[in-house]
Amino acid sequence: MHSMIEIFLASSESGHSLVAMAYLVAGVLFILSLAGLSKQETAERGTWYGIIGMLIALAAATLSPDVTRYGLLALAMVPAAVIGGLLAARVQMTGMPQLVALLHSFVGAAAVLVGFASFLDPHAGMNTSEAIVHEIEVYIGICVGAITLTGSVIACLKLHGVMSGKPLMIPGRHLFNLAALIVTVLIGVWFVSGAVSSDGIVIDTTGVILLILATVITGVLGVHMVMAIGGADMPVVVSMLNSYSGWAAAAAGFMLGNDLLIITGALVGSSGAILSFIMCRGMNRSFVSVILGGFGAAEGAVASSDADQGEVIEISAEDTVGHMQAAKSVVIVPGYGMAVAQAQHALADLTKQLREAGVTVRFAIHPVAGRLPGHMNVLLAEAGIPYDIVLEMDEINADLPDTDVVLVIGANDIVNPGAENDPASPIAGMPVLQVWKSKMVVVMKRGMATGYAGVGNPLFFHENTRMLFGDAKKSVDGMLGAL
Ligand code: NDP
Repeated sequence: MHSMIEIFLASSESGHSLVAMAYLVAGVLFILSLAGLSKQETAERGTWYGIIGMLIALAAATLSPDVTRYGLLALAMVPAAVIGGLLAARVQMTGMPQLVALLHSFVGAAAVLVGFASFLDPHAGMNTSEAIVHEIEVYIGICVGAITLTGSVIACLKLHGVMSGKPLMIPGRHLFNLAALIVTVLIGVWFVSGAVSSDGIVIDTTGVILLILATVITGVLGVHMVMAIGGADMPVVVSMLNSYSGWAAAAAGFMLGNDLLIITGALVGSSGAILSFIMCRGMNRSFVSVILGGFGAAEGAVASSDADQGEVIEISAEDTVGHMQAAKSVVIVPGYGMAVAQAQHALADLTKQLREAGVTVRFAIHPVAGRLPGHMNVLLAEAGIPYDIVLEMDEINADLPDTDVVLVIGANDIVNPGAENDPASPIAGMPVLQVWKSKMVVVMKRGMATGYAGVGNPLFFHENTRMLFGDAKKSVDGMLGAL
């Protein structure tokens, strides 16, 4: 069957048009997938559209009449599919952000390689203006690809904790970035003018050297840009690199003349850009100031947090349950620690039992909670918590003063009052869930450690705050036992 399709595709003119049709179907499925993913109720269907679209695209690309060396292709594809499959199957939910960042870096690497290949082996028969456009595509593809590659590797290392989340602030860094950008543009002009003559494309050593130079400069720029970004801005950087990887893929699509890659790249690029915008709004930051870096860098901010704020008041799991049972309304704020502890299933049980006992229980989701956009929504959905009781920060903040008990489970930065009332705080200006306005707050965490932004949290010392120390899963189990 497989070889029949191959023979059909290879032997007939219709091979190319069949591939084009398959690409069109895949493109439509990708758009349906994105539309599905925008709502929790339809997210699973959206994922399936994406999977089917990608399978169609892969089959069409592999069986296309342009492909002749199947052995070579299998040599690249089979080990890659096995490694990718194993990695994705094994990754913990807490390791997902790093994996996503790493996958973005592969798109960047692919764009750089396609760029070099496309320069050395261009399509024959281009006229001068087509050749100019082709060389511009090659150059932009390589530059965007190199920034995406190195920037994503650094983001991955930062998210994995191998590198500190603190911003690197070298003196004159803005000047450095500006100089790198100007030099990249100048090399680009030199490259394009040298690589095109009246006879079409000129492939020479100078062209290769200029491309290598551009790769190195933009690669260093990628490293430097992400190194300069502080802990609290990382969510925006992750979605920004997602967007870059889309543009890198689109550039590769132009170079290869592959419409589907252009469509997919544009979808990823623009949805990543919109997500970055939403994240910026969620954190009250401008996109430019994120790119310029340095947020979360205020000197001594961490040290000022704990020392002079008095004692914290501890509470037991049993007493917490007692307060929750007596409450009319309870709001649960999940954060990164809930993902670490994998406490969502136990939390779903607790929620169910409290609701059966007549307590109103709702969840409050901060736009940058966890380590990945939508991280908390995914975990809560996985545990079967009903969507209609999961509310966004803007929807629930006004209700918090009338809430009897707020349970903060493994969250820290997103409930830090310092962001609102301490202008010296490194996260000043970031909107937060105003949990301290409720009648009582129980914070569940293992100790007094700071969150991702490395900032101390005055909430722990408020008089209506109680600390329930311990692993979040064990604490929720303890609460279930008490119930
Ligand atoms: P935080 O990182 O601020 O805090 C998490 C808290 O969880 C820690 O203080 C830790 O305290 C506690 N914790 C860790 N493990 C456990 C456990 N097993 N049981 C109980 N508690 C635990 O998380 P938030 O969700 O509040 O905020 C997200 C932060 O991450 C923000 O600063 C955001 O900017 C950043 N970020 C977000 C991204 C996104 O896209 N959403 C991407 C990258 C960064 P202790 O060690 O004492 O237990």
